[in-house]
Amino acid sequence: MKPARVAIVMVLVLLAGAGGWFLVRSFVGKPGDPPATVAGPGSSSGETGKLVVLVVFDQFRNDYLERWSSVFEKDGFERLKREGVWFANAHIPYACTSTGPGHASIATGVPPSVHGIIENAWLERSADSRSVRLVYCVQPSREFALVPPLPANAGKPERGSENGFSPENLLAATVSDALRATPGSQSKVVSLSIKDRAAVLMGGKMNPANPPLVYCFDVRDGRFHTDAYYADGVPKWASEFNANRKYFDEWVGKEWNRLRPDLDYNKLAGPDPGPGESYGYNQGQVFPHPMNKNAPNGGPEYYRALENSPFGSEMLLAFAKEAIAGENLGNRGATDLLCVSFSSNDLIGHQWGPDSWEVLDVTLRSDRIIQELLTHLDARLGKDRYTLVMTADHGICPIPESRKIPTADRRKPSTVLTELTAALDATFGPADQPGHWYASQEYAEDVWPWVYFHRANLQMRGIPFDAVCDYAAQFLGNRDYTLTAFTRKQIESGTLPPLPPDQEREAKAILAQVKLAYQPDRCGDVVVIPQRGVLMTKYPSGTSHGSPHSYDTHVPIVAFGAGVPALGRKDDAVSSLLVGPIVSAALGIAATGREAIPPGLTIAK
Ligand SMILES: [Zn+2]
Repeated sequence: MKPARVAIVMVLVLLAGAGGWFLVRSFVGKPGDPPATVAGPGSSSGETGKLVVLVVFDQFRNDYLERWSSVFEKDGFERLKREGVWFANAHIPYACTSTGPGHASIATGVPPSVHGIIENAWLERSADSRSVRLVYCVQPSREFALVPPLPANAGKPERGSENGFSPENLLAATVSDALRATPGSQSKVVSLSIKDRAAVLMGGKMNPANPPLVYCFDVRDGRFHTDAYYADGVPKWASEFNANRKYFDEWVGKEWNRLRPDLDYNKLAGPDPGPGESYGYNQGQVFPHPMNKNAPNGGPEYYRALENSPFGSEMLLAFAKEAIAGENLGNRGATDLLCVSFSSNDLIGHQWGPDSWEVLDVTLRSDRIIQELLTHLDARLGKDRYTLVMTADHGICPIPESRKIPTADRRKPSTVLTELTAALDATFGPADQPGHWYASQEYAEDVWPWVYFHRANLQMRGIPFDAVCDYAAQFLGNRDYTLTAFTRKQIESGTLPPLPPDQEREAKAILAQVKLAYQPDRCGDVVVIPQRGVLMTKYPSGTSHGSPHSYDTHVPIVAFGAGVPALGRKDDAVSSLLVGPIVSAALGIAATGREAIPPGLTIAK
C-alpha cells in the first residue's frame, strides 16, 4: 500500500472508532452528486448558497486551545469547541513540518510524498547532475508579474521567488481544484494570506473556466496582489481595499501593547523577555513593541513590522470581509470556499517563542478574530449556511535557551556540514575545494534537513554514491544533538540498520514520518532528524519548526457550523490529513485523497 493510502485508511479507521464515522458519512456525497447547496432558512433576503471557510493559523499548537482556554472569550475558540467538533489529538503524519508542506497537505488531504511540496524550498538537479537551482515551493515555471504591478525598483521580495508565484509545483489536486472542476460549477474560491505560499497552495490551480482568486501581501508596496498566472486584473473590491490606506497604515506611529493588561501574562505564558527571545523587526524583546521605529512615515520597514504583529491579522480579516461582500460568497446559490491563512502568528512565534507574552497576546487576538468572523458570518449568512474548519500548518519548538526540554540545543547547519566535510575528507580523501561534496554549498541551509550530494563529482572521483550516503547518515545520525539520519535508499526500502529494540521502535516511527515527506525527484540524499528540543538553524535567537517531534506535529482540527454535529472534544488520535476530507465533505464534493481508499472501504452513502 502506498503511504498515502495507509494514512487515509488510518484516519478513517480511527474516525470510525471515534464515533466520528457519523461525521464523515453525514458530510460525504456520492461521486458525481451535485454540490450540496443548502437553502438558508435563516436568510431573510431569500438568497441561497453555502460558504465553507477554511481558517489556518500559521504555527498554532493544539495546546494553545487548552492552555489559555480560561482567558478566551465565550464566543471565539470556545464557541467552536462547544458547538462543533474539536480533534484535540491530531498530528501531522509526515516529517517536514513547514509552511509549504503544511498548506499543501491541508488543501489536498495527501502528504508531501504525494503532493510534492516537500519543503518551502528544494534543489532541482540539472540533467547531468553538475548543477542545481534552488526552487521555491510556489515558484512559477516562467516569469509572471504581480497584479497590480509593483512600483519600479521595488527590490527583491521579502520571501519567495522573484518571478511571481503559482501552484504549478503541486502534484495533487486541492479541494479548490475539485470544487471548481465539477461540471457547470458555479462555486467560487477565494484564498487569502500574508504569505504567498499559504494563499497559493490552498487556492489551487488555474482553471480558465473558473479561476480561483488568490491574494497575498507584499511589504514592498504594502498591498495585496494576485499574479498574472491567475488574472490580468483585480476586482473592484480588491483595488478599493488596496486604495483605502487606513487598513494598512492604521498602526503607523503606534505601538503593539498587550490586549489584556488585566491578565497575568507572566503566569499564563512565561517571563518577558524569556531566554533566547528575538527582536522582531526593530520591535524589541519586550512590550510595548514600536510599529515603525525606523520608518516614521510607514513604508516597507513599517509593513515588515506590521506583518510581524497581530495587526497583520487584523488587516487580513478586514480584507477577507471585503472578499465575502465583494464576491457575495455563500449567497450565490452555489457552495463557495474561502481560505484564509493568518501568517502573523508564525512570524511572531519565530521571534518570541511559544512561551512568550507575544504569542499569548496574538493567540488572544486570534480568539477575537474568530469571534468577529463568526459574528460576521452569522449576520450575513445565518448559522445554517456556513461551515468553518480551523487548523494549523505546523506547531513550534520551545526556544532552546528556555530549557523546557532537557535535550534542547541550538546548532547551525553550516557548522554541522563543516564537521561532515572534515569527516568525509578523512574517510574518502580530501575534496579539492570547499563544497566539493555537496550539490550546493550556497543553498545548503535553505534546503536543510536534506543534504544533497554532488553526484557528478563523486562519479568523477570514483567514489560510490551509496557509500557516501551511508557514511554521512551514520555520521550525522550519531551526533549528540541528532536523533537519527536516513539515506534515500533507507527511505525507499524502509529498512534500517540493526538497532537496540528501544531505539528501533523510535527509528521506525520516524522513518514512517520521513517516508510521507519523501518525493524522490525533489528530496536530497540524506535527511537529518534532530534530537527532541534541538533547533538546527542559522538564527542565533528565536525558534522554528520543521521536525517530526510532537511540538511541531500536534495541531488543532476544529469543524463548526452547517452539517457539523456538536460532538465537542475528541481525544482519539487522528491525522492532520483529515482536514482535506472534512473540507471536501462540507463542500459536498468527493473527498480529496478518496482515490487512495482501497476497494471495499466505502465512505459514501
Ligand atoms: Zn514558520
